[in-house]
Amino acid sequence: MVEFAFLGAAGEVTGSMHVLDTGDDKILLDCGMFQGRRKDAHDKNRRFPLAPEKISSMVLSHAHIDHSGRIPMLTRQGFTGRIITTRPTRDALDYMLLDSGHIQESDAQYLNYKSLRAFLYKAEQSRKKQTLSNRDKSKIKNLLKKTPYELDVASIEALQKEHGLDVVVPLYTMEDARQSLTYIDGYPFGTEVTIGKGTTVKFYVAGHILGSAFSLIKVKRPERTYRILYTGDVGRFDKPILRDPTLNFDEDDRDIDLLITESTYGDREHAPVADLGASMRQVLTRTVERGGTLIIPSFAVERLQSLMYQLWKLYRMNRIPNIPIFVDSPMGNNVLEVFEEFPSWHKLTLEEYHNMCNHISIVSSYAETWETIDDPRPKIVIAGSGMVTGGRVLTYIKQLGDLESTSILRREAASSTRSIALSGRERSEM
Ligand SMILES: [Zn+2]
Repeated sequence: MVEFAFLGAAGEVTGSMHVLDTGDDKILLDCGMFQGRRKDAHDKNRRFPLAPEKISSMVLSHAHIDHSGRIPMLTRQGFTGRIITTRPTRDALDYMLLDSGHIQESDAQYLNYKSLRAFLYKAEQSRKKQTLSNRDKSKIKNLLKKTPYELDVASIEALQKEHGLDVVVPLYTMEDARQSLTYIDGYPFGTEVTIGKGTTVKFYVAGHILGSAFSLIKVKRPERTYRILYTGDVGRFDKPILRDPTLNFDEDDRDIDLLITESTYGDREHAPVADLGASMRQVLTRTVERGGTLIIPSFAVERLQSLMYQLWKLYRMNRIPNIPIFVDSPMGNNVLEVFEEFPSWHKLTLEEYHNMCNHISIVSSYAETWETIDDPRPKIVIAGSGMVTGGRVLTYIKQLGDLESTSILRREAASSTRSIALSGRERSEM
């Protein structure tokens, strides 16, 4: 008997985790992080739904954190098997899990800072028997910070201890993430890999992000072979640089007994993947006329590389003016290297890739971010963080956003096709 259970991402999005029980082995499919409001997500992520030592192996569909983000918890808590995924996903995780570990650590530090600060405000207030002035508050804040932008973690820890306060520990640390990487093996698509007794997995291109795969799992039993297909997130057809999702499965892989698929926008018809050309040209022409900067916030994985490609193509076709294009996203740059390494996973030829990278300037340090901001020429800046909630893009928006010559290209959160652009003036009228 082969059994299957959803442990997350059912009736909700994010936190993808499922388990396949073949009778001999428990095989985990993805190990994603719940994302959402900090407190809710934190509580949900803490509870690991299955004893990690009981899992024989894990199959990972792609590198997005809502599918991979709890791997460091799995490996820290006693998992001894292997994590099987594709080669590009394996490489992307080097950056993504470490980054996630870093975020977990800073989140915990910030929560500790906030609760300690509230405690000290209260203590000071009852000592003084009056409401604290901003100056009093600043004094306390400064006590807990090394610089205005950097928490003094050691002092915070010591004070929490001294006052017997609860300490928030990170879900996992960068070190946990680093350790977890040693459990992960990357394979080419189309290869059968053993993941349990009489059980194999084979990957097919899913076209969602670079390296994302459909996992075709075969459980061979005396009476028959069971075929289970786990799609993970499925990509769209005709994307600029990613290959289309596979429709042509090998002969022996077609008779599927169980199909497990995910859908976030299941009841919505997507418009066809749009040609960026028309809207981009309009905005760009206006921005160049004003001598300004066009800021394009972007997710680091896939979206950023696809934007680079589309802009480079428009320039090659003389459809946009020849102005400097800067890409500023440390994570995006790392993912770009994965594109270079795995040409068979996308449509770009190596020659195109190199020409594109020669035309576009990669910003590789924070000092260069400031040089780019100060560059007086009309320019395009693609910068990290798609939802404009963090990352380098905020620095650009803070510094240049109020200028009338600046345009910010925004994308409707739900639709990947329509772009709207707002200039400084237009934004201030909103
Ligand atoms: Zn995804």
